[in-house]
Amino acid sequence: MHEGANASDRTDVDVVIVGAGFAGLYMLHEQRKAGRSAVVLEAASGVGGTWYWNRYPGARCDIESLEYSYSFDEDLQQEWQWSERYATQPEILQYLEHVADRFDLRRDIRFDSRVLAATWDDDAATWTVRTEAGDQIAARWVVMATGCLSSTMLPDIEGAATFAGPTYHTGRWPHEGVDFTGLRVGVIGTGSSAIQAIPVIAEQAAHLYVFQRTPHYTVPAHNAPLDPAVRGRIKVDTTIKCHPYNYRPILSCAHILQDIVPNDRPRNRVSLRDGVAGARGPPSPHMVGDPLARPGLRARVFARELLPRRWRETVVAASADPR
Ligand SMILES: Cc1cc2nc3c(=O)[nH]c(=O)nc-3n(C[C@H](O)[C@H](O)[C@H](O)COP(=O)(O)OP(=O)(O)OC[C@H]3O[C@@H](n4cnc5c(N)ncnc54)[C@H](O)[C@@H]3O)c2cc1C
Repeated sequence: MHEGANASDRTDVDVVIVGAGFAGLYMLHEQRKAGRSAVVLEAASGVGGTWYWNRYPGARCDIESLEYSYSFDEDLQQEWQWSERYATQPEILQYLEHVADRFDLRRDIRFDSRVLAATWDDDAATWTVRTEAGDQIAARWVVMATGCLSSTMLPDIEGAATFAGPTYHTGRWPHEGVDFTGLRVGVIGTGSSAIQAIPVIAEQAAHLYVFQRTPHYTVPAHNAPLDPAVRGRIKVDTTIKCHPYNYRPILSCAHILQDIVPNDRPRNRVSLRDGVAGARGPPSPHMVGDPLARPGLRARVFARELLPRRWRETVVAASADPR
């Protein structure tokens, strides 16, 4: 910014958007359509947001792929073909990269640009946005499309800093993947990410320990390749997808209820409360739950895969401070 210039001279762009996930990409597209200049500042080296960072084994969406996609462009809706009912992380990332290319979004995105500060100047009616690299951009508007799940939370576990083995966080998974073949692995947590990762890691690991503080209920996802007939029907009439009284989510909920109700009977529960996994009745291949964690009282997590036989043979679950 230079002194003496009026507010409009000082504005490098109309809008600074922070984040290039689902929200940031769409926001950039909309700003252009409205005739405003915009720049996206993104800490990562690519687009995708959540789906750029979360590359852990088994990562998928919990919402049906046909609904977990943009609805602002009819051609995009018609041309993109999801392959499974619940898309994997690589497929969702591919979709977002396709969107970035299709709408020529990348030319207004600055990657590896972490925003450190945004300061409002009342007199100039301008934001000054500063990045870690020292860039400063003046803008009339700032949109924080920073999501709520793109940063990581590392619990303060005693001894973690001196643990000699490699450690990973699902939200910062190495791009080249991790080979757990023959290793003894510990997974901390049994939330949505862990419940997706555990069956896949268990396929490789010699032994997998699962450490759980708070038990969750899980319901089977019934994932499958997308039936081309269903996909075709929805593509023909995208109002099925967009209508507020859309029958599809209602059907999804009905499926979930169907799964929860029988799972509330003893034969389908697995208790992780007693230090080591103990089954009350024959364990359901889906359940990592607790009889006291009633469905609806805690976040529901969706088990993507049937937990394979090997899961039960190699996995030991320890539960501390069960609530
Ligand atoms: C494993 C997983 C599965 C999920 N499944 C579903 C699902 O099935 N259905 C559903 O509706 N939601 C799901 N979510 C939630 C998901 O986060 C949202 O659906 C959606 O992707 C959020 O998009 P977003 O653009 O708002 O934010 P994000 O995708 O989080 O993007 C935010 C971006 O902002 C960037 N950023 C943050 N701070 C800064 C900064 N200071 N400077 C520069 N850049 C910054 C980040 O690097 C990131 O790229 C899931 C989340 C996870 C982690």
